Amino acid sequence: MKIFIENKTKYETQSIKDFLKPIVEHEAMLDYPTVFECYHKKSNILGRAYFGVVYSSKYGRHYGVKLNFPKPEVLNERKDLIVKTVIHEYAHCRGLKHKDIRGGGCVVNDIDTSWFPKELTLNMKMASVKVPRDLRKERYEKALKKLKEVEKRSIRYAKLVKKWQKKVRYYEKKVKA
Ligand SMILES: [Zn+2]
Repeated sequence: MKIFIENKTKYETQSIKDFLKPIVEHEAMLDYPTVFECYHKKSNILGRAYFGVVYSSKYGRHYGVKLNFPKPEVLNERKDLIVKTVIHEYAHCRGLKHKDIRGGGCVVNDIDTSWFPKELTLNMKMASVKVPRDLRKERYEKALKKLKEVEKRSIRYAKLVKKWQKKVRYYEKKVKA
């Protein structure tokens, strides 16, 4: 069973994958990949399934679930609700209507999640370590390099000017003579 994660959340993609995998396996879906579009938008947990097996050029035939993740501050108390929401949306993928889903409607409380590994959680993305750039220093060094380059060139040109001045003076003398 393949899972694709489109991750717009603050959580690490791999940890989202690890979290969703047991659910996908537990629900024993047909062998199509599932694309989870993960984001933070509203404060409550929301899910939306693309009904049935859809086709995209990127993923081929797949199930689709859009999932609104809880913010990190409230993740622990809402972990169970994520599991329930995924199961609910997955049931839609399978073609079930609300009246056929355990818990019915958009109420997901009746869904059993006791089998879900409690230790699984979502890790935050690592903040990329950025070394602050000293722009002024960088620009100074660039300017210094450029100056050395043109100084070198100007010495060479000064030599050429002298050389041709000498030649011109020589021929001028010849012409006058
Ligand atoms: Zn629903």
